[in-house]
Amino acid sequence: MLLCDFHIHTKYSDGSVELRRTVDLFGQAGFDVISITDHVVNGDNTFGKLAHRFKFSVKKDNFNKYISEINREAERAWEKYGMLIIPGVEITKNYLSPDKSAHILIIDIKEFIPACWDYEKIFLEAKEQDALIIACHPHHTSDMTNRDTLFLWNNREKYARYIDAWEIANRDDVFNVISLKKYPYIANSDFHRARHIYSWKTLLDCEKNTESVKQCIRNNRGVAITLFRN
Ligand code: ZN
Ligand code: ZN
Repeated sequence: MLLCDFHIHTKYSDGSVELRRTVDLFGQAGFDVISITDHVVNGDNTFGKLAHRFKFSVKKDNFNKYISEINREAERAWEKYGMLIIPGVEITKNYLSPDKSAHILIIDIKEFIPACWDYEKIFLEAKEQDALIIACHPHHTSDMTNRDTLFLWNNREKYARYIDAWEIANRDDVFNVISLKKYPYIANSDFHRARHIYSWKTLLDCEKNTESVKQCIRNNRGVAITLFRN
């Protein structure tokens, strides 16, 4: 099966490792498929404005540079490691209340999507671009420095139909509610520093190309999770 990680940050947002070195870390560790998913933060409140000021967000004006650098790295990674890289972002809606906050991976994104758009508009645009929509860390987490993002879980009756898969595990956390609800799932590292490579991962039984990977996650057959340890 393909060893995959679909949730990886670099210095384009709040990750501590440069894109090129991140690619080499995953390539040397034997990964088959990764997605680079730097934050696109909502700029419509204080949190978002701070994130923008401190360059913790991909923005409309550097989105094309971000995507073309990922594509250049994708070519290099394919030749050097046989590793597939899919461009993505993490739409990051941060509010004071965890009940209002949500993070969403858009995998195989082609055009910029602002995080301040409403949910329906974001989901419809992502579908228009034939991108995958993944609900990130959708329930209570163990990370004391990171605030929870509960909006999509709280509003699952309304939004589940748009979501291709939910993170059933993120780094060290496992979200049993996703399994109880029988939602489609994947597992990711939420990589921000080198040691985060040791974390929950997705295994896929499909061909190593973007269309097959997306189809496999959407069908959610031949999907498994594994704890990748040193
Ligand atoms: Zn997140
Ligand atoms: Zn993240």
